[in-house]
Amino acid sequence: MRLLILLFLIPLAACGGNRDDEILARALNLPADVGTICDMKGLLGVEIDDISGGSGGGCGVSDPVKVYAVGGVKLQAQPRINCKTALALHSWATNEAQDAARKSGTLITDMRVVAGYACRNRNSRSAGRLSEHARGNAVDIAAFTLSNGDTVSVLKDWNSRKYSKLMRRLHASACGPFGTVLGPQSDRHHRDHFHFDTASYRRGPYCK
Ligand SMILES: [Zn+2]
Repeated sequence: MRLLILLFLIPLAACGGNRDDEILARALNLPADVGTICDMKGLLGVEIDDISGGSGGGCGVSDPVKVYAVGGVKLQAQPRINCKTALALHSWATNEAQDAARKSGTLITDMRVVAGYACRNRNSRSAGRLSEHARGNAVDIAAFTLSNGDTVSVLKDWNSRKYSKLMRRLHASACGPFGTVLGPQSDRHHRDHFHFDTASYRRGPYCK
């Protein structure tokens, strides 16, 4: 019996057991080369070449991925990030974010990502510390499409009557899954998007 199970499992492992993800990728209308990445079922994308930031500066990502979907949620614009960040996004989108949406009587079907890798300083200043985006550790999300067809954006709905509760729940739910969570209440740079990154701090996550 054991042998029978092994014989069944070996070929499955050899192809990554990715048949479900192939079906999911097709259902989400993703490009043909998109498949399971970072060894995580339901995390869909492609592996891409190392990103080198060029001369000096410390920008760049090794073993980056381009992410197309996380836990059945399709990403509009596909961020280039590292696997650690892709896994955090996948886990949050699958668990906490959908729990937050469910509390508001809906589900998330799409997310509009507005930044992944970017070789720049924090808040795009000319001086100061390098952004987590410059190492592939961060994603910015500006909007979500819901199963009822509505699209909610950070800019329009953080204070909207219908969806402010949902937006605040989504923001709060990312604190922990990500080491840094920034939104409209942090500063003027984050009026129109949530910033999530996987930097970790000794004192625990920084969320504002
Ligand atoms: Zn950001």
